[in-house]
Amino acid sequence: MKLFVPKELDASEARVAMVPEVAKKLVDLGAELEVEAGLGLSILCSDEEYSKVGAVIVTDRVAAMKSADIVLRLSAPTEDEIELLKEGCISASYLDPFRQPQLLAKFAECKVSAICMEMIPRTTLAQKMDALSSQANLAGYVAVIMASERLPKMLPMMMTPAGTISPAKVFIIGAGVAGLQAIATAKRLGARVEAFDTRPVVEEQVQSLGARFVKVDLGETGQTKDGYAKQLTDEQLALQRDAMAKVCASSDIVITTAQIFGRKAPVIVTKEMLKGMKPGSVVVDMAADTGGNVEGTVLGKEVDINGVKVVGIANLPGQVPVNASQMYASNLGSLIIHFWDKEEKVFKLNMEDEIIQGCLIAHDGEITNDALKELVEKENGGKA
Ligand code: NAD
Repeated sequence: MKLFVPKELDASEARVAMVPEVAKKLVDLGAELEVEAGLGLSILCSDEEYSKVGAVIVTDRVAAMKSADIVLRLSAPTEDEIELLKEGCISASYLDPFRQPQLLAKFAECKVSAICMEMIPRTTLAQKMDALSSQANLAGYVAVIMASERLPKMLPMMMTPAGTISPAKVFIIGAGVAGLQAIATAKRLGARVEAFDTRPVVEEQVQSLGARFVKVDLGETGQTKDGYAKQLTDEQLALQRDAMAKVCASSDIVITTAQIFGRKAPVIVTKEMLKGMKPGSVVVDMAADTGGNVEGTVLGKEVDINGVKVVGIANLPGQVPVNASQMYASNLGSLIIHFWDKEEKVFKLNMEDEIIQGCLIAHDGEITNDALKELVEKENGGKA
C-alpha cells in the first residue's frame, strides 16, 4: 500500500505531517512510504533522515498524488489536489469541515475517502490519535511564553535586598486541554494563576495544578457526551462577563481559550472589560481563529486597545514546529497502525469501528457525517 506525504502548500506553515521516527514505524509495517523532497526542512530534518528509515523521496508531487493509496498531510488539500487522487484513495488531514463544506463535496465527487483529524473521537482508545489535543497542549504553552515576552514584567515572585517583587497574575478563561497546559506553564514560571471554565468538572483539575478556580454561578452549564462545553445563553454570557471583568482588571495576563465545537467562539472579554485592565497588560486570544473571545481581536495580529496588548496570532503550535510535527505525525501514525492489517499489509477502513465512524466524513461518493451532509446540501441548494 502506497502512502504519500506531500509538503504543505502554505509557506507560512512550519509544521509537517511526518517525521522520520514515525516514518520508520510505517515502513516497518510494510507500507511503501513516499515523502516529497524537502518535506522536513522547516523542522530541520533532511531528506536523508527520511530515506535512512526507508521512505522514498519523490520530486514529482503530482505523480505521487495520482498513485497514492493514502495521502497524509497537515492542512486540507485544495480542490485541484483532491481531483488528482484516484478513486478509493484515503486522504487524512485537518479539514475544518464546518467552514470548508465545498471540500467535502469534492471528496464525494472524486470518490476519495476523507479522514478529518479534527473529528477523531475523544475516547480513551483514540487519545493517541487526537491531534486537536496534541496541538492544543502546545498552543497552551506557547500562549503563556508569548504573553510573558510581551509583558513589561517578569512572572515569578522575587525577594531581593532591593525589595520584594510580587508575582504576576495570570487569568486563564477556558480550562480545557490548552487552558490546563497554560495554567501549568504559568505556574512553572512562578505566576499566581486563576482560571475559569463553564464545565464544573474542571474545578478540581484547575486546583490540582495549584491555580485558583474562579467560581461563578451561571445556573445549568455542563458538557456534551464528548466532553465539550455546551453553548451558554445570552443571559449566562452576560453574567459571566460581569464576573470576569473584576478578575481581568487585576490580572497582568489574560489567556482566553473558550471554544464551542463547530461554532463561533463566545465573546467573553469586551472592549469595556479591556478598558478596566492595567496598561501594559497582555491578552492572548487563543480562539482568534474561530471568531475570538476578545472584542477587538484581529486574527494574525497584535493590536493595542487602550494600552492593553491583544494578541490574536494564529497557529500557535506552529511556533514550536519541531514538537508540533512530532506530535501530529505520531497522531497520524497511531491511526495508521491501529487500522493496519498486518497479514495483508493494508490499512483497513473498518466502517463498524467508532473511531472511523467519527472521523471518516466522506467515503465512496457520499458525505458520511449527517451534520456535514446537511451543511453541504444547504450550500448546494439541496444536493449533497
Ligand atoms: P475546546 O477547545 O472545545 O474548548 C476549550 C475550553 O473552553 C473547554 O474547556 C470549554 O469548556 C471552555 N469553554 C467553552 N465556553 C466557555 C465559556 N463561555 N467560558 C469559559 N470557558 C468556556 O475543548 P478542549 O480543550 O479541546 O476539550 C475539552 C475537554 O474535552 C477536555 O478538558 C476533556 O475533558 C475532554 N477531552 C477528552 C479527551 C479524551 O478523552 N480522549 C481528549 C480531549 C479532550
